[in-house]
Amino acid sequence: MTISEKVAYLKGLAEGLNLDTEKSKEGKLISVMIGILEELAMSVEDLEENALNLGEEIDVLSDDLADVEDVVFDEDEDDEEDYDDDWFEVECPTCGETLVIDDEALADGEVECPKCGSRYAMDLSDDEEEEGEDEE
Ligand SMILES: [Zn+2]
Repeated sequence: MTISEKVAYLKGLAEGLNLDTEKSKEGKLISVMIGILEELAMSVEDLEENALNLGEEIDVLSDDLADVEDVVFDEDEDDEEDYDDDWFEVECPTCGETLVIDDEALADGEVECPKCGSRYAMDLSDDEEEEGEDEE
């Protein structure tokens, strides 16, 4: 039974009591309470329906967003490692200039020193697995 159906059942029960809703204070109280319950039941059912509709719209949006993500983040999963939004700096071994290693450099697999023009290839395949030989 839905809430509305339960309230309708309750209303039927109350009517079966033949309450005097004009002169009896108790009868009037019950009548008013049932009226409030009817309004609440309708409100709740409206809200439930809205929530369902919103859920469906969110599903649609979520699918659309996934399509957009496919276009924007056009990368293989192999490339999606921890350094996605990261960058770091290293010192140029030749001239000491600061080299910025960013996503672009990582994608190219090499970085060029802006000062002396030296190019350095980067092998990041074993980046995460440093050998634990020089532990302190
Ligand atoms: Zn340099």
